[in-house]
Amino acid sequence: MNPRTVRLVTAALVLLIAAAPLYLAPFSVSLMNYIGVYALVALGLVLLTGVGGMVSFGQSAFMGIAAYATAWVSAIEGLSPWLGLVLALVLTGAVAAALGAVTLRLKGHFLSLSTIAWGLAIYFTFGNLPGLGNYSGITAIPPISIGSMKLETSEEIYYLIWAILLAGMLLSYNLLNSRMGRAMRALRGGNAMVESLGVNAFYVRLVTFVISALLAAFAGWLYAHMNRFVSPTPFDVTMGIEFLMMAMVGGSGYLLGAIVGAALITLLKNSVQDYLPLIAPSVGGQLEIVVFSALFIVFLQYAREGIVPFVAGFLPEPRRQPPEMAEPLPQRTQPAPGRMLLTAEACTRRFGGLVAVNDVSFDLKSGEILGLIGPNGAGKSTMFNLLTGALPVSAGTIRFSDTDITHAAQRKIARAGIARTFQHVKLRPRMSLLDNVLLGTYTRTKAGFLAGAFHLDRREEKEARYEALRQLERVGLGDKPYELAGNLPLGNQRVLEIARALAADPILLVLDEPAAGLRRQEKLALANLLRSLKQEGLTILIVEHDMEFVMNLVDRIFVMEFGSKLCEGNPAAVRADARVQEAYLGGVA
Ligand code: ADP
Ligand code: MG
Repeated sequence: MNPRTVRLVTAALVLLIAAAPLYLAPFSVSLMNYIGVYALVALGLVLLTGVGGMVSFGQSAFMGIAAYATAWVSAIEGLSPWLGLVLALVLTGAVAAALGAVTLRLKGHFLSLSTIAWGLAIYFTFGNLPGLGNYSGITAIPPISIGSMKLETSEEIYYLIWAILLAGMLLSYNLLNSRMGRAMRALRGGNAMVESLGVNAFYVRLVTFVISALLAAFAGWLYAHMNRFVSPTPFDVTMGIEFLMMAMVGGSGYLLGAIVGAALITLLKNSVQDYLPLIAPSVGGQLEIVVFSALFIVFLQYAREGIVPFVAGFLPEPRRQPPEMAEPLPQRTQPAPGRMLLTAEACTRRFGGLVAVNDVSFDLKSGEILGLIGPNGAGKSTMFNLLTGALPVSAGTIRFSDTDITHAAQRKIARAGIARTFQHVKLRPRMSLLDNVLLGTYTRTKAGFLAGAFHLDRREEKEARYEALRQLERVGLGDKPYELAGNLPLGNQRVLEIARALAADPILLVLDEPAAGLRRQEKLALANLLRSLKQEGLTILIVEHDMEFVMNLVDRIFVMEFGSKLCEGNPAAVRADARVQEAYLGGVA
């Protein structure tokens, strides 16, 4: 499918939706209104759960806060529903931010669990507030008016609902393809990698959570003025579960999945309510849940990722042009060669009783390649984790270009100019090579959530994309920028990590076993690349087991054993050292 076809199909769909009130019966239009409102909530869950990997059962409660806020403003206080919208968004956003700030730092299922508790709490709170009508709710909510036009009938509010939904889809689409959107997409699979690229993962999670709550708030506002009545029941946890189901059935990683899922579940629920009483008149509501569960199990068997990716699997791949030429991103000036760049002093790291790094000191001058070698378990990777702030030291100090970074956060160290790769490759396999490398440009770019959503980042984005392509070409992976990273052989995944690190324009490159899994030719190419990086003034610290590779590449070698420093010197001297031969080379080198 080429982009033109995609645009044509999209335009046809938008037309079809726009003309719906002309060809649908009033009842179907009101069903479409529900689908639109629910799809807004599901869209929030696509971003939160499908993209960001956070599960929330509390979206219906956010929707409820917004619905009650606008009901109070318009029906009880007699003010404009538009003021209701303002209060709905402010209140929902504030509650989500507070809730997120408390729970998002917790690992595991705490967020999901707390959203259940929160959903329950809201239901009972609304039910027991006499000012808000207790369990019978608030009636006589006025319709929304635009100018002198009152949106009273289903056909009238239809346009507002679908306009807001389509705007939400468009902004989300833009966002996901921007700097912050890529950070959101990278959240799944742990913090270590994103933080090493300078991303504040907590902040990205929090904003994603607030965005999803705000989408639910729009839905709640529309819902209140569409039904002209609110009560606690439509916002209880059952509904929260249904929203999650919509996002999952539609395809929680896909924006369109929100509409498809909301449509499917709403229509299904509707027809189950219509036909079930005919088949089993006496059982009613109970059976509905059984039918639903059965369908859900079938769905999990056959289209686990959701309907959208299932269908998309049968469509031809979209063809995409490689990024265009652009101005280069701003670049650092590398420090003068030979200046002291990094000093580690008496660094120690304990894991319980185990001393993984024991009183290790070394330094590194600008422009040098230093090889760190030692048997498995010697503490090399732990040393790297200390330098990059991935782990705190138990004792010791680390300085990087005249700054004490001993207790600095990982992302601060990344911003200061240390870029790394991981011994156990940390990529996002479901993102393209280009997007993975674009993650590396995070510290060199600025666009925030709003700039991304409203496409105000065009120039920077173009520059970043070109830079990412350039780095891919530099490491020899430039021919298929849109291939998914997970499809690469492991050796090339390591090389892709190097491209990502280079995209950060680092001062110091820290590589943990980059040549592992590479074939001989690929190793030679990698060695050439590293040499040319050194020529350009980059400083490199490398752990590598292939002795030939290390000896021919580095200026200096530093040997660790059992967490301690064994010796250091130029490659020839280290190779000749009897202790090294015994400890590491088994006396054969
Ligand atoms: P190397 O990279 O030199 O092979 P590592 O730094 O990975 O060695 O490991 C050094 C020692 O520290 C090993 O004994 C390892 O089991 C231990 N270790 C590393 N990381 C952790 C951790 N997160 N928790 C507990 N022990 C660890
Ligand atoms: Mg290691």
